[in-house]
Amino acid sequence: MNCPHCDRLLYSRSRPTCGYCGAVLPAEILLSDAERDRIKQEKAEIERRRVIDKEKEEKRKKEERKRNDMGGPI
Ligand SMILES: [Zn+2]
Repeated sequence: MNCPHCDRLLYSRSRPTCGYCGAVLPAEILLSDAERDRIKQEKAEIERRRVIDKEKEEKRKKEERKRNDMGGPI
């Protein structure tokens, strides 16, 4: 992996900047393919849960409205 600014080989991808020119490196370069995949999966998982939570919340609100329409809980 080379620095996109000075094109020199990066000796460590754990550094946020290039050791030669000091340029800030993009996250894609800093992370390995496996790490990128892991983060992608985590994001997908978070998004999936968010959707489920939203659906639950919508359902709950709907039930609540329904109860209110019937004059509240007995
Ligand atoms: Zn550089």
